[in-house]
Amino acid sequence: IPVDSFDLVIFGGTGDLARRKILPGLFRRFCAGQMPPEAQIVGAARSEMDDSGYREFVAEAIHEFAGPLSEDAAQVEGFLERVCYVAIDAKGEAGWEELKSKVREDLVHAFYFSVAPSLFGDIAERLHLHGLAGDESRIVVEKPFGKDLDSARELNATLAKHFDEHQIYRIDHYLGKETVQNLMAVRFGNVLFEPLWNAQYVDHIQITVAETVGVGGRGSYYDASGAMRDMVQNHLMQLLCLIAMEPPAKFEPDAVRDEKLKVIRALEPVEPYHIVRGQYDKSKDAPGYRQDVENPRSFTESFLALKLHISNWRWAGTPFYLRTGKKLKARTSEIVVVFKDAPHSIFGADAGRHRNVLAIRLQPNEGMTLDVTIKEPGPGGMRLVDVPLDMTFADALGPEAEQATEAYERLIMDVIRGNQTLFMRGDEVEAAWAWTDPIIAGWTARSDVPKPYDQGGSGPEDSLMLMHRDGRRWRELK
Ligand code: NAD
Repeated sequence: IPVDSFDLVIFGGTGDLARRKILPGLFRRFCAGQMPPEAQIVGAARSEMDDSGYREFVAEAIHEFAGPLSEDAAQVEGFLERVCYVAIDAKGEAGWEELKSKVREDLVHAFYFSVAPSLFGDIAERLHLHGLAGDESRIVVEKPFGKDLDSARELNATLAKHFDEHQIYRIDHYLGKETVQNLMAVRFGNVLFEPLWNAQYVDHIQITVAETVGVGGRGSYYDASGAMRDMVQNHLMQLLCLIAMEPPAKFEPDAVRDEKLKVIRALEPVEPYHIVRGQYDKSKDAPGYRQDVENPRSFTESFLALKLHISNWRWAGTPFYLRTGKKLKARTSEIVVVFKDAPHSIFGADAGRHRNVLAIRLQPNEGMTLDVTIKEPGPGGMRLVDVPLDMTFADALGPEAEQATEAYERLIMDVIRGNQTLFMRGDEVEAAWAWTDPIIAGWTARSDVPKPYDQGGSGPEDSLMLMHRDGRRWRELK
């Protein structure tokens, strides 16, 4: 379904995020026929460049990152006609009047802040000064949204000077994943799951976001941040909220976000022995974390595992285990809901232990499976096996579905439609920091030293123990 016509200004339009995600995503929406003919994309960044120079940059980004669609020259050409560029200084006056002349008054305006957060205030202020911050304007802001509660509050206050909350889209691309939305469909569109979705029937929940890469070129940013700030406070927390929240009365932005906020506010403080921090060690042929960030005395974690409790009626007593890390053996993001044993086994001890497990996989191969126990076919008597029921549509829709489901493009279209359901509200972000800050303060005060772990493995031994102590284990990374 095409969206209303729009002007989308990308501050930081020559940056890495614009090149890899935003521009190729917009191109794919264009190919899908979702962009109306008058829509315009304005790159705005520091480099001196004209429209044709920027179109070359965009064409390269498309060829590199937009997949097979980029081979259609006519589509690429058509898309490039929608693109123009303004050289602008977020901290000065250069370029702003030119930008104003390009933005058309009667359309939806979206301003994507794909720049360092230190520039958010400058850009918001100048949009206001140049009359570009109207009631119909929307702004999209990238992570990191602050580094603690104070800085997040300050950032919220800065943006609130010129924009109402309903105009601010704080992006977390995990929320744009097809499977994350499917999770809500499965939970709230079926009668089967919700009655079991509580401490009485759920043994525990695991959320894993594992990466195979190290810190890459982001060493100095990452070393000042670590896994807690870079991944847990935002992405894992958002996933936790969606899995644990009460059913909202309607699938509407504030109804959903109110319920997410209640989850964050119900999180208990985390005991120090329920926290495992790690740092990838150097291996035979690859440098370790400390070499990568060029800080031989770094105590920042590149791995974090936590055991959490949510103090409310639904979840009292059910642990949530979260883990995320770099240089692990697989690139996997998944949420795993492990249900309790059947109350009594009529098949006797020999039948072994069988549990229903719902696995929601965000990457790679987005999808959802539910392990159910059935009889092993054949004459061998009553032998039980667990079989995964596949609840994924990707196979049915073929590779096109894969093409159509990139998180960024879905979220950008939601901005144009004015739908904030999949974006974080200011109070949610602050509540997440309010929970995060004391945990970081705790390990800082204890002078906690992260445990070294082998590259290409599953993280520090202690994280396995975090589960084993409770008679549980992590689902294998694969
Ligand atoms: P980048 O360093 O590659 O690009 C920065 C962009 O900002 C460039 O286009 C540059 O011209 C522009 N810029 C810098 N100073 C400016 C000024 N004074 N006036 C106007 N433009 C200016 O950064 P990036 O990796 O694209 O990241 C952008 C934002 O997105 C950051 O907040 C980052 O944390 C966030 N982010 C990036 C990624 C990623 O994968 N790259 C992922 C998540 C979040």
